Amino acid sequence: MKSHYQAVVIGGGVVGTSVLYHLAKFGWKDVCLVERSVLTAGSSWHAAGGIHALNADPNIASLQAYTIDLLSEIERESGQNIGLHMTGGITLAGTPDRWEWLQSAYRTFQSIGIDDCRLITPQEAKELCPIMSTDGILGGMWADREGYIDTTGTVHAYAGAARKHGAEVIEHNRVLELNQTASGWEVVTEKGTIHAEHVVNAAGLWAKQVGRMAGIELPVSPLNHHYLISDTIPELEDLDFEVPMTVDLEGFTYMRQDQKGILLGIYEIDHQHWNMDGAPWDYGFELQQEDPDRIEKELTLGFERYPALQEVGVKTWVNGAFTFSPDGNPLVGPVRGKPGYWCACAVMAGFLQGGGVGKSLAEWMIHGEPEADVFGMDVARYGDFAGNKQFIKETTGQFYTRRFVMTYPNEQLPAGRPMKMAPAYADMTAAGCQWGASWGLEVPLYFAAIPDFAEKPSLKRSNAHDIVAAECKNVRENVGLLDISGFSRFEVSGAGAAAWLDHIMASKLPAPGRARLAPMLSPEGRMKGDLTVFNWGDGTYWIMGSYYLRAWHMRWFHDHLGGDVDVKDISDAMVGFSLAGPNSRKVLEKLTEGDIGALPFMGCGGFDIGLHRVRIGRLSVAGELGYEIHCPAVHHIALRKLLLAAGADVGIGEYGFNALLSLRLEKSFGIWSAEFTQAYTAAQTGMDRWIAWDKPAFVGKEAAIQERDGNGPAQRLVTLHVQAQDADASGYEPVWKDGKRVGFVTSGGYGHTTDMSLAMAMVDSDLATEGTELSVHIVGVERKCTIIAPSPYDPRGQAMRG
Ligand SMILES: Cc1cc2nc3c(=O)[nH]c(=O)nc-3n(C[C@H](O)[C@H](O)[C@H](O)COP(=O)(O)OP(=O)(O)OC[C@H]3O[C@@H](n4cnc5c(N)ncnc54)[C@H](O)[C@@H]3O)c2cc1C
Repeated sequence: MKSHYQAVVIGGGVVGTSVLYHLAKFGWKDVCLVERSVLTAGSSWHAAGGIHALNADPNIASLQAYTIDLLSEIERESGQNIGLHMTGGITLAGTPDRWEWLQSAYRTFQSIGIDDCRLITPQEAKELCPIMSTDGILGGMWADREGYIDTTGTVHAYAGAARKHGAEVIEHNRVLELNQTASGWEVVTEKGTIHAEHVVNAAGLWAKQVGRMAGIELPVSPLNHHYLISDTIPELEDLDFEVPMTVDLEGFTYMRQDQKGILLGIYEIDHQHWNMDGAPWDYGFELQQEDPDRIEKELTLGFERYPALQEVGVKTWVNGAFTFSPDGNPLVGPVRGKPGYWCACAVMAGFLQGGGVGKSLAEWMIHGEPEADVFGMDVARYGDFAGNKQFIKETTGQFYTRRFVMTYPNEQLPAGRPMKMAPAYADMTAAGCQWGASWGLEVPLYFAAIPDFAEKPSLKRSNAHDIVAAECKNVRENVGLLDISGFSRFEVSGAGAAAWLDHIMASKLPAPGRARLAPMLSPEGRMKGDLTVFNWGDGTYWIMGSYYLRAWHMRWFHDHLGGDVDVKDISDAMVGFSLAGPNSRKVLEKLTEGDIGALPFMGCGGFDIGLHRVRIGRLSVAGELGYEIHCPAVHHIALRKLLLAAGADVGIGEYGFNALLSLRLEKSFGIWSAEFTQAYTAAQTGMDRWIAWDKPAFVGKEAAIQERDGNGPAQRLVTLHVQAQDADASGYEPVWKDGKRVGFVTSGGYGHTTDMSLAMAMVDSDLATEGTELSVHIVGVERKCTIIAPSPYDPRGQAMRG
């Protein structure tokens, strides 16, 4: 062991060894891994070793696909056998909704380029897996690249391949302390102190403690998990092939062959957390006592699905722990204010995802950004609120129990809620508000006047469709009031504020008293934000964006700070309402001191409304005459009452974000995580029209110019009119031209004013012209669609500017 390395990876499980391998392979040779015990000594040694490409989250599915492809490569590079059995895999559907979901998931996988899947009948499933009972099975999906590996062999293969690339592995050496220094980190270990520019927390079951060593409270917890390995099953002895890795979603189990028996793993309904503050330091190769009573229901379903289990005994029980984040996805990446500290934790399925995690993190550390859009596993998708133990307990428990339970797109899950509420929450609830959650905050979805209204979970248009239609109509014809506490607000001040904003945003800065849409780019020219900048005219600016990106954006701002500038996240202190619709000005005129009528489109300023000192911006995501009114949180309740009273005679009605999503789709306004992500460039999304090319410099300028002067992006964002019937596109559906996949949907929904099923999609640039006839799969059914001109509602934007 040396006293200095460029990077120290803490933890020798599958994730740490993968990070080490990728760092060394991509060129960092002065790297080491420090392991408390021996390699595999955390969760990794007792994993079931199952590998499957499929995941409900397309970004995670891509990560898994990369990992699976990598396995044979590390085996070859290291010379270490990983016991790869590529048996293929089946995912079973046992209810009509699940079968529909699986058919639509199949199309999603096609969208992201996972082409080695096909839908199969129960009979085919039976032929592929003869030990399975297909009772209650309606269909399944087959995937070629599924199977299982030897877990210990795989960890050693990553480590062996890393060594061949020049990395070092140091076992029996616990990291005791981490101290931040001017140039990185002092890593105090049992065998001495190491100085490193970078440290990686890949401590698995101990990630919580290794986070705390640096003052970071990670939202992660271990939970217990059972699998059993059966005695020999005679039917398997007679087969000349191995049965496939099989996931029975309705049965809460996964199964793979293990020699001539099977391994049956269970996602436990009655879940059990284990050492929420992290595993004990002296935890060895022990397991927890099995608890078949707690998992009786799932076991019964498993024994019915694989009846041979009723005839043979259980050879081995495994009840071990592994880690979860609140949404079940990994926690990867840098942490604001802790330069050189990197997370690679909460990797729930390390053998499926570890390769992708290692690759993305190594790219991030070496190049400053990962190649793919990894927001879904970025540690900055959570804020401080997520460090709360009760929140972690509820959300990780919910994820675990629901791991194989179908979540409908319109379903609101209860864990960790309600946590944050805007002050008028109770009044809005009394008015029928149905709530969703964004980054811990309750946000209004729609207002149901019907007492005890309950939205039925659905893959198609739900029973809230007509309620949302009425809200849209009221916005378009009268005026709607929307609680916009769920937007982020950053205040930028200081003598250097303007210069800093000018550097970080690709657009021009707004003049005093004006607001402006501002794309923010990475140095590679990819999107980092679809923000709005307000110039209040008094030397302060606001940046507004998506609420759930607060920590993610703040990390970016922090990383790019310089000069005399202060950026404050004021999103909890400032809340507000948006008024949208032809009568919105009439409402404000009754209340406002000052000439609100003189405020131009995209103008902004301070006003008094009744007793309230507010800031108003004249803009509208709904595409109507509209105003966004911002007030300190303590004014929220009274301001709402005042606006509702003033609007009573001009038809004011409250609406929610479901209606806003429909209204903005009719305007072809993109939103983050759908039309805009860090995988896309400004030109691809049309955001390049806001770029100020004549600015001397801004982050991403060179890359944006290169794109502008080159051949242009391969795909472009378009608006589609879909011939849908009872369901609309939601995202990631494949778009076809004459049987060839030419793009995918970024988001979709119903346009209630235009009476059209609409979608936005990325399609091959040569086809991205108005009038092109295409088709798209909606909930598994192919529908015709046509590229239409952007903004099917009010294409010239007269309503907004009126
Ligand atoms: C019963 C069961 C079945 C599973 N089945 C599957 C499956 O089929 N497929 C799949 O992909 N995944 C499966 N998993 C999950 C899988 O085991 C984990 O995702 C994976 O092991 C996580 O790896 P890791 O490297 O993040 O953590 P770990 O394996 O926990 O490794 C962390 C390492 O860090 C070391 N460490 C911690 N603190 C320090 C310190 N201070 N100093 C030095 N070293 C330290 C530990 O000793 C340990 O070796 C299963 C898990 C369980 C429990």
